[in-house]
Amino acid sequence: MKALVYDGPRDVRIKDVPDPGIENPNDAVIRVTSTNICGSDLHMYEGRTPMEYGRVLGHENLGEVVELGEGVEHVRRGDRVCLPFNVCCGHCGNCERGNTAFCLNVDSDTPGGAYGFAGMGSYSGGQAEYLRVPWADANCLVLPEDAVEKENDYVMLADIFPTGYHATELADVQPGESVAVYGAGPVGLMAAYSAYLRGASEVMIVDRHPDRLKLAEAIGATAIDDSKSSPVDAILERTNGIGADKGCECVGFHAHDPRGREHPESTMNRLVSSVKVTGTLGVVGAFLPQDPGAEGELAQHGKLPFDMGEFWFKGQRMGTGQANVKAYNRFLRELIHRDRAKPSFLVSHELSLLQAPSAYENFDQRLDGWTKVILKP
Ligand SMILES: [Zn+2]
Ligand SMILES: [Zn+2]
Repeated sequence: MKALVYDGPRDVRIKDVPDPGIENPNDAVIRVTSTNICGSDLHMYEGRTPMEYGRVLGHENLGEVVELGEGVEHVRRGDRVCLPFNVCCGHCGNCERGNTAFCLNVDSDTPGGAYGFAGMGSYSGGQAEYLRVPWADANCLVLPEDAVEKENDYVMLADIFPTGYHATELADVQPGESVAVYGAGPVGLMAAYSAYLRGASEVMIVDRHPDRLKLAEAIGATAIDDSKSSPVDAILERTNGIGADKGCECVGFHAHDPRGREHPESTMNRLVSSVKVTGTLGVVGAFLPQDPGAEGELAQHGKLPFDMGEFWFKGQRMGTGQANVKAYNRFLRELIHRDRAKPSFLVSHELSLLQAPSAYENFDQRLDGWTKVILKP
């Protein structure tokens, strides 16, 4: 089959690789019909992670079940399924408690697995024609009869919609509250969108890319351009000097100033300043324990000059980490099915798998108008 293979920093190619097959009785194989390029794919693309050469990328996958192991009980051949980016077993201690992003049975040195991802097991990615899905009963979210018609919405259930929602869950967003969101990439936009689904009265979202800020405004958020003025001042101004009730960090360790210099602590510290005393922060932007490509020595070891004093003095709380996609994907699926949510509003490009290498290049340069890419193998 054809697949997108990582051949080194900024070098991805379409290659012929062996078709996946059933390896364990609980496996399924799907024919991939939609697979997204994610901001975290770019971390690997840029060579900022220990990604092995020759691996297939792609962790945001949707497709049709074409093969089943004899142990699979609840998934049928022909089902349209969306797969959480976290590979999970469904029955370890962490999975049982809903913490499927930290599954203890995946073939990884640390808890948590993912398709086509550095440091999260050897699972192959879905930017390919076919994908093997382990523990198919636990990992396949079966889609309803409008699966094909709303495919571009449902594929967002693999990662960014639940991840954006997770930010608002960690931040404990309640009806009527104001929410500050740093980052208007796909996850930040999904966090803003989720905050409104939870009844937020105002969402203020900080970024500097005009295309992203426009999308933020299209969903009713207040767009704040941090290349023009201080986002903290803007948020304090809009909240009578008090700060937002809750805050979401959706940028991560690549946070940089408008001139391109990286300051991995900048969004975290601004978030602390933008949120009121006793407010809660949800941090889903990726921070890594090691980042050898970082500019400063602290950052190379995943350490940040974090404003602990202000954070403590304000009595704030913080939740962090990858989204447990399975904790949210069923009810978010129902919101899409019943026309209460349409996350495909942020899709900018639908391309064939063969166009993936150039799509990586354009997305990596954050070219205007490249907000979210769906590949159709
Ligand atoms: Zn992703
Ligand atoms: Zn597990």
